[in-house]
Amino acid sequence: MMDITLPDGSVKKYPEGSSAFDVAQSISQGLARKVLSATWNEQTVEVMAPLPGSGSLRLHTWEDEAGKRAFWHSSAHLMAQTLQQLYPGIKLTIGPPIENGFYYDIDLNGHNIGEADFPAIEQKMLENARKKAAFHLREVSKQEALDFYRDNPYKTELIENLNDGEITFCDHDDFTDLCRGGHLPNTGFIKAVKITSIAGAYWRGDENKPQLTRMYGISFPKASLLKEYLEQVEEAKKRDHRKLGRELELFTFSQKVGQGLPLWLPKGAELRERLEQFLRKAQRQAGYEPVISPHIGNKELYVTSGHYAKYGEDSFQPIQTPEEGEEYLLKPMNCPHHCEIYKSQPRSYRDLPVRFAEFGTVYRYEKSGELHGLTRVRGFTQDDAHLFCTPEQLKGEFKKVIDLVLYIFKTLDFKEFNAQVSLRHQTNREKYIGSEANWNKAEAAIQEAVSEKNLPYVVEYDEAAFYGPKLDFMVRDALGRRWQLGTIQVDYNLPERFELEYKGADNEMHRPVMIHRAPFGSMERFVAVLLEHCGGNFPLWLTPEQVAILPISDKYAKYAQHVSQLLKNYEIRALIDERSEKTSRKIRDAEVAKIPFMLIVGEQEASSEKVSIRRHGGEDLGSQSVEDFVHLLNEEINRELAAE
Ligand SMILES: [Zn+2]
Ligand SMILES: [Zn+2]
Repeated sequence: MMDITLPDGSVKKYPEGSSAFDVAQSISQGLARKVLSATWNEQTVEVMAPLPGSGSLRLHTWEDEAGKRAFWHSSAHLMAQTLQQLYPGIKLTIGPPIENGFYYDIDLNGHNIGEADFPAIEQKMLENARKKAAFHLREVSKQEALDFYRDNPYKTELIENLNDGEITFCDHDDFTDLCRGGHLPNTGFIKAVKITSIAGAYWRGDENKPQLTRMYGISFPKASLLKEYLEQVEEAKKRDHRKLGRELELFTFSQKVGQGLPLWLPKGAELRERLEQFLRKAQRQAGYEPVISPHIGNKELYVTSGHYAKYGEDSFQPIQTPEEGEEYLLKPMNCPHHCEIYKSQPRSYRDLPVRFAEFGTVYRYEKSGELHGLTRVRGFTQDDAHLFCTPEQLKGEFKKVIDLVLYIFKTLDFKEFNAQVSLRHQTNREKYIGSEANWNKAEAAIQEAVSEKNLPYVVEYDEAAFYGPKLDFMVRDALGRRWQLGTIQVDYNLPERFELEYKGADNEMHRPVMIHRAPFGSMERFVAVLLEHCGGNFPLWLTPEQVAILPISDKYAKYAQHVSQLLKNYEIRALIDERSEKTSRKIRDAEVAKIPFMLIVGEQEASSEKVSIRRHGGEDLGSQSVEDFVHLLNEEINRELAAE
């Protein structure tokens, strides 16, 4: 018998040779029908194959990531099988699952596939799926594997890099593929399929190697899930920040100015300013002090900090001056400047912590193919700050930063988020600078701070920065997509490199610890994410135009001016639509511009000194005095900023 430990800690006995499916069935028939994949002792196993022996077992369904991964991995096999049937002679390479679906890189060997062929491929895939063909993993010798793929140089190359004894093939129906495993019980689980796109890709991502065709697809256990997914994709297109940014006149790009260098238009600049003011205020309350540093710095500064070694070759090149040998770099990071500000005077333990904040613009070269709207740019402004504290203060400061980040997320209506603690690679530690002891201290401080704050978090190894471990906040937007925002980093290394010191209570000199943090990440990226999250319907306190005043004819233009002046006195941002258009047209345009409130003014309103209020989306709030309306607005803004 085998002892199988289930996730709830219970241990059950099963006969030797039992599969994960057998275990599922012993729990319930319902679970057995839903189980897509299994993990035995942290190792992916085939659902239907005999378990290797006693151990802990987790069963995965569509509800978890591992279940989806098996589903999409198996779907890639199904797509490869289908393509091989429809296009004989193609050569398969690799086909992994991805965040949403899967792809397969294929050498089409003379065939042509275009979007027009997708429906036929999808249909044939479903036909194959309906055969409910079981997936079987079997071990093969290196020689057998090489023989099988003698006409496929790609698979041959893959096999040559594998050791005899660790090579497996997966069979289903009439199809065989080189594969390490992790499959559905059979193809029958795949009930809906969509080929989503086709693109070029180089073998092994190397542009000197043959060009392949990458086919992307996605599949689901129910047709309704595919429908939902496609609707979500449509909604995401509508919310694309590049499109909304243009429509709402927030930002633009100019080839003449340069790729990846955003130009903020008046409305966007004002919005960004409000975001900055909001954060400045929160930071002031949290004891931060503002500092300002230039956009360039002496190359030696970044040699000292290590940034030159990290960014130098692959980023903007040094700027020469008429002075022989003098070189400057566009600032890739604000930290070195802030270290020098720290150093500008002697520090005592009584002065710590010091917290320097700056909306600092930095420049990093990104390949033109990787630029994307405001999310991947070459010049951006970080909402940066550096905290210098004693080692004893580290955890407490870290927790305060977490509080600040959470306040910001709540105010901006990101309700779902979790944290990712990024630590070093578990074994390979060559790429990190700094001592083992300091790293251990920093990694422990982050994990303690996060668990004391009761934040949901995951630990990721090999995700730390080269100079220290970090905490990243991942938010889920209104469409359920995950974005990385807000980073907090512990750094023992820059204080070392810049020889930062403070005089301790013992009258000896000590090294402070440094924390880097940027709750928004960068203003550019944050505005992009916020735009896609709220679909352009910003919170009232932040939105560029809060109110549109719509006179129903020219006769009431003067009263509209009067209302506008009153609102201005209360610091409400309002515009007047003075065009001689019908009111219905003006309302429609204000709706498109996503202005939260419309004030309709005509005879009745003018004679009673009131305004008729209509909310974005159509709700009629009746007529009120301007003062009452302002009161309503302010209440809503206060509610938003209280973030409760
Ligand atoms: Zn496979
Ligand atoms: Zn920094």
